[in-house]
Order: sequence, then structure tokens, then C-alpha cells
Amino acid sequence: MIDKKIGNKCTGCTACVNICPKNAITMKTENTGFKYPVINQKKCVNCKLCKKICPVLNTKKNKSINECYMGSAKNENIQKTSSSGGIFSILANYILDNNGIVIGAAFVDNKLKHIAITNKDELEQLKGSKYLQSDLEDIFKFVKYKLKENKILFVGVPCQVAGLKAFLKSDYDNLLCIELICHGVPTPKLFDKYVKEIEKNENDKLVKYNFRDKSTGWETYSNTAVLSKKEITELYSENNYMKLFLSDVALRKSCFNCNFKLGNKYADITLGDFWGIKNYYYEMYNENGVSAIIINTKKGKEYFDAVKKNLKFKECNIESIIKGNPSLKKSVKYNKNYENFFRDINYLNIDKLVEKYGAKEITLLARFKNLARKIIKFLRK
Ligand SMILES: Cc1cc2nc3c(=O)[nH]c(=O)nc-3n(C[C@H](O)[C@H](O)[C@H](O)COP(=O)(O)OP(=O)(O)OC[C@H]3O[C@@H](n4cnc5c(N)ncnc54)[C@H](O)[C@@H]3O)c2cc1C
Ligand code: SF4
Ligand code: SF4
Ligand code: SF4
Repeated sequence: MIDKKIGNKCTGCTACVNICPKNAITMKTENTGFKYPVINQKKCVNCKLCKKICPVLNTKKNKSINECYMGSAKNENIQKTSSSGGIFSILANYILDNNGIVIGAAFVDNKLKHIAITNKDELEQLKGSKYLQSDLEDIFKFVKYKLKENKILFVGVPCQVAGLKAFLKSDYDNLLCIELICHGVPTPKLFDKYVKEIEKNENDKLVKYNFRDKSTGWETYSNTAVLSKKEITELYSENNYMKLFLSDVALRKSCFNCNFKLGNKYADITLGDFWGIKNYYYEMYNENGVSAIIINTKKGKEYFDAVKKNLKFKECNIESIIKGNPSLKKSVKYNKNYENFFRDINYLNIDKLVEKYGAKEITLLARFKNLARKIIKFLRK
């Protein structure tokens, strides 16, 4: 059975749960709000299958072709409604046009989970980064079943893609996997608390939450809470949820020692924001957002070639992507206040948590960027 030592390194990818022939493993929510696998010893027959397939216990170095691009969707609406350059939507539209299924993270009753869609009207729910861990539930079994007849695009953070590939064991020609460059995932417990406090303070219900509202720019994005009677928009640097996310106190423990950084990629394509693009390729800068696109496999390249007519793009080197995006290569550093934060989350309100644990340095830099953006806009008029 799964080695007890995995403990904090477990990403919650659900591969072991799905592979167990005796249904002996279930995901249980811990005090931290993250889910971990728990084995029912009465059902377990010690076949060790879970241990053999766990992608954390069986890390392999995957070869990647590492062909890199920067790019944005040509369609301005897609640019504006996606987190970076909208490459995910371009690939998703291609799969849906070919009668395929797209699987990604969406909010259902303010809980984030992976869902499957089959038509373009449903794509809006998947678009955009949501900064908390998504619940995979039974989606891996669904993928395996549907792969018998359908093309599938699966998108997730790298450990989720690694979990899916481990569960499937063999590669499927009709499965395209996209992963995101990943800073780490905060606990759903924090988002739940944050939403409850907004609803209480406003005496209203949250309808939608947008972590990457570009109405204030791509680099100076905002968070917008859409309530039934009003909308609250705050620069990410002023937003309490983002201050706690970016101080790294609320992340899953596995994120401090992540096995799925550059050099160990399971997905066909890796997508992220091309932060710092102005320093390297000014001519490719787009105020609505530019994606960093890393092609890891031959299959990824075939899909990229099939959709590139819908993109403005240019080849680049991996170093320029890493410079603005260290998360591609390295895990974030463990925050020494981590344990205290998870104690206090049960007692303190969000304001008090931010006072004690929030990232302070982001506010000044983002205010400066926002001011510079406003001045440039004004001068252009
Ligand atoms: C938790 C998290 C951390 C990230 N950290 C970085 C980073 O450090 N550097 C960087 O450059 N980029 C990071 N990204 C990725 C980046 O924000 C964009 O998602 C990426 O550039 C793709 O943008 P897009 O415009 O092509 O697609 P988008 O329209 O933004 O679509 C993104 C896709 O990601 C899926 N998704 C959204 N949230 C989650 C989630 N919580 N779990 C699994 N799948 C999800 C959605 O279903 C959607 O299909 C992160 C994303 C997330 C969710
Ligand atoms: S050892 Fe086999 S039966 Fe036991 S939990 Fe793991 S997969 Fe299930
Ligand atoms: S990393 Fe995935 S497969 Fe390994 S123990 Fe955790 S949930 Fe199971
Ligand atoms: S940092 Fe690594 S372990 Fe954490 S969510 Fe991202 S891919 Fe998974």
C-alpha cells in the first residue's frame, strides 16, 4: 500500500484512489482543508498497486522537446477573458470543433472542481486561473472511459496531469494534456472562509469570482467578486485573498518540494504568463496578455501547428521564460509561519490573517505598475 512516508509530499492527485482494485482508498479532508488518501485496512489486500503508480513515489525524468513560444490569441475577446494570452481557449475550441471533450477546473456552487464540457457555450466556466486546489473527484475514471471513443483535452496543474498519466499507464493518441506553470495551490478552506466573510459583510450572495479580471490591465490585474447586487473589484495587490496566496502560507505542503518542475513534464504543452516580456521581446507585448508556451511532446507540437493560424506568436528561448517565472523551475520557499497560519485560520478573520501573514511587498510594486499604466494611457490620448 502507499508508503506512509509520502505524507507531506502527497499532491492529492487521486491516482491511487482510482487505481485501487478493492476501492479501499478514499480522499479525506484534513484540518488544513486539503484532501489526502486514507486506506481502509479491512478492504486492502496489499497488492501494492497504489504504491507502484503514485507519481510522487515513482518520479521519472521525462524527456521534453522544450520548444518555446510566446503568443496571444488573435481574437481580442479571448485575450481579454483569459488569464494570459488565451492559448488554452484556442486549443479547447479546436478539440470541441472536432467533437471532443474538454476537462478543466470550474466553480460549481463556489467549490472548485474538474468538470467535462462538450460545447463552446460551456467554455466560459473553464476559462481563467482559479487560485485554489481543484477537486478531481472521479474525473480520471471518466477520462479513461471516454477515451475509448473521444478526443479529450485535460488541463490542470502539473501534479494533476502526472496523476492522470500514472493512472492511465499508457499514452493515448486521442488525449492532449495541458499543464499550467504552477506557483502552488492554496487550500479551498481559505477561499471558503473568504467567500463567507464577503457574503456576511455585504449581506449578499456571491455569484461569480474572477481572479484575473483584466479591466485594470494584464500585469496589474484585479480580483472581482460578482455578488447578486453589486461587483467588488480590487487590484490583486490590494486584495486580501491574493495577499495570503502570494505569501505562500496557505499552499499545499507538496508545493514546497514539487516533483513536477522543468525536466519532469508529463503534459504535452505547458502554459503560463510571459511575465517580463517587455525586457526581451518588446514587439510581442500585448496589454491584454501574452502566454509562455512550452511544447513538451511531438503530439503537443502537432496540436500547436493545427491552431497556430489563430495566434500571434514567435519562437523564444526557455531562459527568457524562466527569468520572469521562477516557478517553472523551482518550488517556492517554505514559509516559517506556515503551521501558525493553519492554526489561526480557525480563529482569526481574514483582515487579521492578512495583518499577520499577508505578503506586503507586492502592494508597492503593483501600485507603481498601475500608476505607470495610467500615465501611458493618458499620454496616448
Ligand atoms: C494555482 C495556479 C498557479 C499558477 N501559477 C502560475 C505561475 O506561477 N506562473 C505563470 O506563468 N502561470 C501560472 N499559472 C497559469 C496562468 O495563470 C494561466 O492559467 C496560464 O497562463 C494559461 O492561461 P490561458 O490564458 O491560456 O488560459 P486560461 O483561460 O487562463 O485557462 C486556464 C485553464 O486552467 C484551468 N485551471 C484554472 N484554475 C485551475 C486550478 N486551480 N487547478 C487546475 N486547473 C485550473 C482552467 O480550467 C482553464 O482551463 C497558474 C495557474 C494556477 C491555476
Ligand atoms: S495495496 Fe492494493 S488494495 Fe491496498 S490500498 Fe493499495 S491498491 Fe488498494
Ligand atoms: S500523490 Fe497521488 S497517488 Fe500519490 S499518494 Fe498522493 S494522491 Fe495518491
Ligand atoms: S506546485 Fe507542484 S505540487 Fe503544488 S500544485 Fe503545483 S504542481 Fe502540484
